[in-house]
Amino acid sequence: MNNPSFPQLRKDPIVDRWVLIAPERAKRPTELEELPHLTHHETCPFCEGREDETTPEVLAVRAPGSRRDGPGWQLRVVANRYPAVRADAGGVAMTDSLFAAAPGVGVHEVVIECPQHEPSLAALSSEQVRLVFAAYRDRLKALRADERIAYAQVFKNHGVAAGASVEHTHSQILALGRVPPILQHEMTAATTYQQSHGCCVFCDLLARERAVGSRMVSESENIAAFTAFAGRFPYETWLLPKRHAGHFDRLSEAELSDLAAAVRSILRRLGAVVEDAAYNYVLHTLPLRTESPAFHWHLEILPRLTGVAGFEFATGCFANPVPPEDAAARLRGE
Ligand SMILES: [Zn+2]
Ligand SMILES: [Zn+2]
Ligand SMILES: [Zn+2]
Repeated sequence: MNNPSFPQLRKDPIVDRWVLIAPERAKRPTELEELPHLTHHETCPFCEGREDETTPEVLAVRAPGSRRDGPGWQLRVVANRYPAVRADAGGVAMTDSLFAAAPGVGVHEVVIECPQHEPSLAALSSEQVRLVFAAYRDRLKALRADERIAYAQVFKNHGVAAGASVEHTHSQILALGRVPPILQHEMTAATTYQQSHGCCVFCDLLARERAVGSRMVSESENIAAFTAFAGRFPYETWLLPKRHAGHFDRLSEAELSDLAAAVRSILRRLGAVVEDAAYNYVLHTLPLRTESPAFHWHLEILPRLTGVAGFEFATGCFANPVPPEDAAARLRGE
């Protein structure tokens, strides 16, 4: 453990909790003391015309004849300039009776969701939002070929309260060498449920939510959305494909279009209920090379209207001031 090289995953000596020690995320330690702020239009590295301020693109939707890493694109995926993990993370895994650590191997990418300086995904056209979810699909497919990657976490931070540092609408893909704990917990729980009930917990949950109705937010041919029964955050909403499916990147074109439309619509409704609400969304899907009949991919929208504070850190229990049934009614426009 002398002279460790970073980034590094460390396990808490007491409980099974892993932390990513990633010093490159802060250019200087003193930056951590500054109040969070957003990079605005004047200095935005994600705007069309400033392609040389990002790393080279790994994926782009471009006009025919436009030059790679030049203008003329609708969406770009680039490597994060301040990665939390690295493909070439050094050091060796170690474990003893107290301290366990492993190199933080992985790939950290940014999905730049539109060329113009627009802060909100919800303000984009339906077609542009569809391109964003198609980019997640295509990058997950591509990352499956990388043997070092076990899981690719897609997530979005919108607003300072949700951890965003650049205003221009974007999301991230953090591909990791191990399956993250929350995914592991969900998979274990889904497997246990299937063993005792013989069916998928998410399919059963969706059937119950449709029957009850009070938490339903929207439903189209392929995608259903409802507020979470035990939502941690006000207006926490889950979106699921109605077809049982474990891998997000195998979704159909119709599911992709319906998902993009549902996300856009729910974010717009959230914005109508709470002006400029900060939020995260996270995609939970089977690990890239895992097959399991028990899991069902889904997207969780987590509005960040209340801070995560001492109570949550102390107890692991979240306090949500908006009953999910009230939240669903407001999101339905009632
Ligand atoms: Zn911009
Ligand atoms: Zn299912
Ligand atoms: Zn989940």
